[in-house]
Amino acid sequence: MQEVKNPSKRPLVYYYIIAMLILMVLNMTFFPSVLEKKVQEVSYSTFMSMTLDDNIGKVQIEGEEITFTDKNEENIYKTTAIDSDSDMVQRVYDHGGDLSRIDTQPGLLTSILVGWVLPLVPFLLIGYFIRKRMQKSMGGMDGMMFGMGGGSGAKVYVPSSSGIRFADVAGEDEAKELLSEIVDFLHDPGKYAAIGAKLPKGALLVGPPGTGKTLLAKAVAGEANVPFFSIAGSEFVEMFVGRGAAKVRDLFKQANEKAPCIVFIDEIDTIGKKRDGQMMGNDEREQTLNQLLTEMDGFDGSKGVVVLAATNRPDSLDPALLRPGRFDRRIPVELPDLQGRIAILKVHAKKIRLAEDVDFEPIAKTAAGASGAELANIVNEAALRAVRAGRQYATQEDLQESVEVVIAGYQKKSRVLSDQEKKIVAYHEVGHALVAALQNHSAPVQKITIIPRTSGALGYTLQVDDGDHFLMSKDELLNKIATYTGGRAAEELVFHSITTGASNDIEQATKLARSMISRFGMSEEFGFVAFETMTNQYLGGDASLACSPETQARIDKKVTELVDEQYQKALGLLKDHEGKLHEIAGYLYEHETITGQEFMDILNR
Ligand code: ADP
Ligand code: MG
Ligand code: ZN
Repeated sequence: MQEVKNPSKRPLVYYYIIAMLILMVLNMTFFPSVLEKKVQEVSYSTFMSMTLDDNIGKVQIEGEEITFTDKNEENIYKTTAIDSDSDMVQRVYDHGGDLSRIDTQPGLLTSILVGWVLPLVPFLLIGYFIRKRMQKSMGGMDGMMFGMGGGSGAKVYVPSSSGIRFADVAGEDEAKELLSEIVDFLHDPGKYAAIGAKLPKGALLVGPPGTGKTLLAKAVAGEANVPFFSIAGSEFVEMFVGRGAAKVRDLFKQANEKAPCIVFIDEIDTIGKKRDGQMMGNDEREQTLNQLLTEMDGFDGSKGVVVLAATNRPDSLDPALLRPGRFDRRIPVELPDLQGRIAILKVHAKKIRLAEDVDFEPIAKTAAGASGAELANIVNEAALRAVRAGRQYATQEDLQESVEVVIAGYQKKSRVLSDQEKKIVAYHEVGHALVAALQNHSAPVQKITIIPRTSGALGYTLQVDDGDHFLMSKDELLNKIATYTGGRAAEELVFHSITTGASNDIEQATKLARSMISRFGMSEEFGFVAFETMTNQYLGGDASLACSPETQARIDKKVTELVDEQYQKALGLLKDHEGKLHEIAGYLYEHETITGQEFMDILNR
């Protein structure tokens, strides 16, 4: 994709007009006095002696005033004539003087060159830099410097062969299908008009960060043979009230002129937040949003302006933006499933040199829940790791290790655990894995390690799902909680003391138990009632509780009971298999890493 031009050049015109005016004033006042040849005032006797010395060139007589030069016509002198010297002219003639005009004005060419062309060069240079700055800062500067009108600053893209295409976006087939319909419409609006079908004016790409929303929009630009205006929501937010709205107006004006075209607003939640009647309202943002709403209503959809927008906070958007006629089509861009992850790994693996026998499936399985951006990062980490090891290409092992780097951080070889700590960590991790393996519903472990990581984890268990789960049964959730508590249970069973190492497990287990009761309706006591609502689902999710304080207390009690029940279950399982616990933990302590295969071998021995 290549940036063509900044559509707002108007302020530059003002700049050049001002530059010309400055030059004109300079030419009328300053330059002539500099350019005019220097004339020295001398006495009449100097004139006479120069004449008698034959050191005289041109002589011009104008009434009282005599202007003359020396023999070589290097300097110009001036003196006043004396009445009594009547044979002056004859004398000058006799001594080789040339009675003619002396031009003190500079030549035309020199004056144009010095007066106009030379001074223009710095002005042109400055103008060039201003334009570059404007293209970069996308119209921020013009308004600031000249205080008048100004562009939206949207960048215009035209498709080029090097651009991003749909093929570069792996997975996300539904999103691609919906978007290619839009591309198709822009190529051939007539086909749609013939049956009277109207295409949506706007489509909203929603999904968690790093799933390829921006990438998809760029791919649309690459596929569609139409101008593509791209602007980020934050660029509308300006210091001065009214500027944002002006930018929106300008953007749509340009889009209308260039139709058919695509307007892409990234991170639209910056301007599209719900307008709430709070006292501390943000006038500027509301004005910008109102202008956007008006513009989206205003343009004629059949002309072929399609507005794309992306956000990861759809629930914070103003409902007015989402109504039909504006962003009525919603395109979910979700985290990739197993097949999607494999495809994304493959797309990015094309950019690096890989060993021939690399199998992406186990990598994709380990990286459950990773976004496209994280997968791209994993592939790059693998390449970096290969370079560090001095290899020519990345191997399966590089990829496997880089998944763990992205999940848990780098290995922290410098941190030395004491013997006792290492033992505790080994039992803790095996506790998790053993509880998971003993409840047949839980996913088998893939790898356990007790090498500390830069994320602060002293050890961790990589679990692996065989497929993607969209539903989880109550039993599965309970087993999951039991697995979380398994680490702490093992510590208690073996060392009869507990450590701080389980804080993250406790948090996860509590969160899950609370969701089961207050959101999934999975307790007999409360049944089919939701007490909690989730907001911000794509950004980690915040839960807000809505119930009476009494209910809240009962929920808290229920959560405690539920987790404790699972803790006891885990403890029981570990007690029944204490021999295996010691055996596997001993192996892990010695080798620091144990694979899922080794783990199952010892367990089934
Ligand atoms: P966001 O959804 O936050 O806008 P981006 O589109 O900026 O995410 O994606 C960031 C990077 O992640 C992309 O540049 C690309 O390298 C990678 N990526 C994300 N999703 C995909 C995908 N589906 N296929 C290929 N690469 C992807
Ligand atoms: Mg983005
Ligand atoms: Zn743990």
